Amino acid sequence: MNDKIVIFIRNELEEFSGIIKKISEIAPFGVEFVAFEDITTEKYNNILRETLHAHVFFGIAPSFYKTISDKFDSYLKAIFQVPFSNLIFIYQGTQFMNDHTFILGKSICFYFSTSLDSCIQANYFTIYQLQLFEKAVISNRLSDYITETFKEVVYSEILVRKNKEIENLYNELEEKNRIDYLTSLYNRKALFDFLERERKRTLRDIWRLDSYDTNMAKKVQEPVVTYSGKPQGNLTDHLGIYSVLMIDIDNFKSVNDKYGHLVGDVVLRTLGDIIINDHILRENDVAGRFGGEEFIIILPETNSVNALGPALRLAEKFKNINFSDNLEGTFSITLSIGISEYHPDDDTNDDIIRRADKALYYAKKHGKGKVIIYEKVF
Ligand code: GH3
Ligand code: MG
Ligand code: MG
Repeated sequence: MNDKIVIFIRNELEEFSGIIKKISEIAPFGVEFVAFEDITTEKYNNILRETLHAHVFFGIAPSFYKTISDKFDSYLKAIFQVPFSNLIFIYQGTQFMNDHTFILGKSICFYFSTSLDSCIQANYFTIYQLQLFEKAVISNRLSDYITETFKEVVYSEILVRKNKEIENLYNELEEKNRIDYLTSLYNRKALFDFLERERKRTLRDIWRLDSYDTNMAKKVQEPVVTYSGKPQGNLTDHLGIYSVLMIDIDNFKSVNDKYGHLVGDVVLRTLGDIIINDHILRENDVAGRFGGEEFIIILPETNSVNALGPALRLAEKFKNINFSDNLEGTFSITLSIGISEYHPDDDTNDDIIRRADKALYYAKKHGKGKVIIYEKVF
């Protein structure tokens, strides 16, 4: 069976039999010419059932349709299980090309007028009918096509967007997970990551330095670019080395006891602010809250002697802050700081932290408010 068929329903369509015959001769699709009673028979029932409904067109005279519309609609519905098929109304007339208006209702209906006058009209009829077929098939398939084809595009577009959102959220969370909520400095976990990164970088630098011959090392010591002032010290004061400052707020417990924990928090936050905003450190330096009122600053490419500078600047700056409390008046606080540098035989960063802590303890023991370099004292 041809997959495009037109079923012309006879009865009052008899008067068009001439042109319909002509169409059957030239139409490139199946044309049936039957009485209404006949399409309700089992034979047509089966044919229609086997045919995609989008491919079946009914040609029917409007006057006849009026008399059978109820039966016709429900009959087609019963066959196709959907609100029915395509309906062509055939008119007697001459305005065929101007009059091919779509009627939109509960079903897709097309109507146009035909004329027995000429064969050209019959050709138009055929072409037009073909277009209708295409339109009907396309419009039916278009929605399937759109849902099927663009579904993937739309879904993938949504997925890409969702993935991006998730990634951003994840990064945000990751970053939040590395930041101390009170001081906005890095937290202990992040500090250990940075320490490990710095240790590995330093090991690479040491390896590179070792592979230089001494002449080369000397050359490197004399910089080609001259900055204002000369770089001080040796190459190895800056390469293959890093330092750690271990900072502890002095008598912090008594600040909490005397002024309350909220004021204590302000003190901690203020120290964070100074470290972040006061240009005491280099951009590459990393500062974090180690826990409680203890802070760590990692100074890459800096030995412990050179680390003394920023440590003293920070201690001085902090000491000069006047904290105020409405009830108890103003007060100031000192910092104790222990410094140690990387030792080539350090197995892990616990070693450098332990040394900086030892220096800090020494500062506490010798009066607080001091900066002690482990390598100088022990
Ligand atoms: P020292 O000079 O020897 O360092 O004495 P200290 O009082 O500073 O040290 P201690 O270890 O005795 O006390 C530290 C205090 O820091 C105790 C603890 O309640 C307080 N602390 C820790 N974390 C926070 C915090 O997030 N906010 C506030 N307000 N206090 C904190
Ligand atoms: Mg402490
Ligand atoms: Mg303390």
